Amino acid sequence: MNKKILSLALLVSLSGLATAQQETIEKRFKEKEAISHFTYLASDELMGRDPARPEMALAYNYIAKFLKKYKAQPIPGADGYFQNIPFNLSAPPKTGELMIGNTKYSQGEELLVLDGEAASGDYEVVDLGFGLEEDFAGKDVKGKVVITNVGAPDQMSPAALFALGRLKTARAQKAGAVALVERFNIPSVPWQLVANFLNRPTLGIDQGESSSLPYLWVKDAENSLSDGKVKNIQLNVAGKNNTKIEGKNVVAWIEGTDPELKDEYLLLSAHYDHVGVGTPDAEGDSIYNGARDNAVGTVAVMNAAKYFAKNPPKRSIILALWTAEEKGLLGSAYFAENPLIPLDKIIYNLNIDNGGYNDTEIITVIGLGRTSSDPLISQAVSEFGLEAIADPSPEQGLYDRSDNVNFARKGIPAPTFSLGFRAFDDEISKYYHKPGDHVDNFDLDYAVKYWKSYIRAAELIANDAAKPKWVAGDKYEQASKELYGDR
Ligand SMILES: [Zn+2]
Repeated sequence: MNKKILSLALLVSLSGLATAQQETIEKRFKEKEAISHFTYLASDELMGRDPARPEMALAYNYIAKFLKKYKAQPIPGADGYFQNIPFNLSAPPKTGELMIGNTKYSQGEELLVLDGEAASGDYEVVDLGFGLEEDFAGKDVKGKVVITNVGAPDQMSPAALFALGRLKTARAQKAGAVALVERFNIPSVPWQLVANFLNRPTLGIDQGESSSLPYLWVKDAENSLSDGKVKNIQLNVAGKNNTKIEGKNVVAWIEGTDPELKDEYLLLSAHYDHVGVGTPDAEGDSIYNGARDNAVGTVAVMNAAKYFAKNPPKRSIILALWTAEEKGLLGSAYFAENPLIPLDKIIYNLNIDNGGYNDTEIITVIGLGRTSSDPLISQAVSEFGLEAIADPSPEQGLYDRSDNVNFARKGIPAPTFSLGFRAFDDEISKYYHKPGDHVDNFDLDYAVKYWKSYIRAAELIANDAAKPKWVAGDKYEQASKELYGDR
């Protein structure tokens, strides 16, 4: 047999195999059941799947119930099917003011209470420049208010401002001050933007180190409060309201069949939260149902659980439904920092997240072109009559805006398998984070193809002899070498 005929025979047998596995998916896939999950998760009863609302329990209990029913296994170290996350919901006070001389600074306008308990009284002020360690040295701030600039001379990124603020607060509290006031005087950042962003409740992972010292920002665009100009402050602020909330990632696993490859894991993930209840639309609907974002993805992972529990591939599978993606990728970040399976055993993350779709002939894969598994994804979707395309709107930075990035940063190849879109156009923004993102305006034939091709893509990757790799030179390639070593 010559080489040509051999490869032709191989091709024929491979495509025969592909058809058989595709047929198994077609046969095992229960369309009605998948659509009923989709309808329930995007129903008004769940009130937009907001991790800060009690209805969130309906969502995570529902998902866990079906993972159990499908016989996906609890991961050792988890709380049954949950990874519990300590969240803190921090809400700014409604009222509060500072008087500096004759100028009044009101909470939410020229003043932002960022942390701490209520305080009131007339206080002497000590100006400590940037409030660095050396600025505090030898100063008597006991019973006084400390005033400083935000950040440090060479550290003005948002993350640095908050991290330094926490350090300064700790220093001021230790030195016996009654409050820390920072002058917000960064010319390139409009105060209004800062105020809108910070003067609202925010969900975060509870750091367990909540400070009681009032920590405030005042608007000082003109630098009129620096250089020791402020001698006295009249303080009258309410404290921040902190509420502890237990967040839950829903997680499970399925053991692979290959004695060696089963030690490697393919992570299948989607966030199940959405943005809750908000501004009503023209029809008066205020529940943001998030059918596209991301009930459809949640159902994809549930379907995969059902299929792989009955048809396990060579590698093991982790199923993960993340919470609080919409609050800043919190659930996936928590898992990436507190992994229930060591990260270096996770060879790939096929994540799902969605804004919407405008082309039902394609699947848009955010990150296509960046890992060695692209041909498997393309093959999988083509078996269901679709075509895989890469991110058409790289300027939106979608790759780094969803849960996959928490794993990519650790080095794990992690694309996001999205509904088909060719541009971020009106058809997308019509539903994206809108109350009208419903199942009844979703093309369910397309949903079924999307779900099946996701299972098939996962199956091909989990059975592939080669481990997925980043394309040489990718910005996460170095992290990958550090995680896995050279392989
Ligand atoms: Zn989303």
